[in-house]
Amino acid sequence: MQFQSVLDDIAAALAPELGREGKVANYIPALARVPAQQFGIALRTGDGEEAHAGDSTTAFSIQSISKLFALVLALREMGEKLWDHIGREPSGNPFNSLVQLESEQGIPRNPFINAGALAVTDRLVSAMDAKAQMLALLASLCGEPIDIDEEVAASEAATGFRNAALANFMKSFGRLDNDVGKVLDVYFHHCAVRMSCVQLARAACFLSRDGLNPLSDERILTERQARRVNSLMLTCGTYDAAGEFAYRIGLPCKSGVGGGIVAVVPDRLALCVWSPALDHTGNSLLGMKALEMFAAKTGLSIF
Ligand code: GLN
Repeated sequence: MQFQSVLDDIAAALAPELGREGKVANYIPALARVPAQQFGIALRTGDGEEAHAGDSTTAFSIQSISKLFALVLALREMGEKLWDHIGREPSGNPFNSLVQLESEQGIPRNPFINAGALAVTDRLVSAMDAKAQMLALLASLCGEPIDIDEEVAASEAATGFRNAALANFMKSFGRLDNDVGKVLDVYFHHCAVRMSCVQLARAACFLSRDGLNPLSDERILTERQARRVNSLMLTCGTYDAAGEFAYRIGLPCKSGVGGGIVAVVPDRLALCVWSPALDHTGNSLLGMKALEMFAAKTGLSIF
């Protein structure tokens, strides 16, 4: 398939719409000042073909896409025991919602909402230097050093009252082992990792290769774990828009409020789109449109 021309067509078709609709995340200045009129798309196939178009090498804040890689680190460390601490059901609620935590005794619905990622982070903090391990995993997957935007991390910490509430609430149920401040610090640093579409397409590619690192063939996850991570991305990766994503796109996806969305076509390729303007669910508007166009043009879908 001519992926480069597919991506060029998508970038050209969306160019007139850049910055027209949606709102850039504005809860911290470092994200609020990112110009909305940007769009990038990149993919990497399981056998190493790459294609990209638009602002595909511009680094952006990966935000909740880090939840995907935090989950990978935790599954590598503790396997199925992770699920003693975290559920696997879609929440149907906004990513930062507190409501289900009380009735569910402080156990988060899934690892891709904020409460779940904080619980995953708590596991990581118990087991490893979680900031360093996150950067090492990402660097090994995309073949270049990856760093953290310290300004974003500091602003997340200065304004993260809701995340602090989530963590403290879980702690009150005895669900976090570590100091709440430490867990939040690592979580905010993971959200503040910056990467480009090209780097994220490479980094997610192992999920289209039954868990094998695309660059080294090192096993990142077992085949079964990789399949299960894909299933969680499909059902929970885009929060309360997961049903709409499955309906319109039909691929496992993980989004972040920096405007990035990573998508996986199992046994074929990984894809990353980025455009900073978001819809009311915190998902990139043009990113979602681009994925819908990609699925329609290529016929690639899990359904
Ligand atoms: N840093 C954001 C938060 O913790 C990440 C949310 C997101 O990308 N959906 O709320």
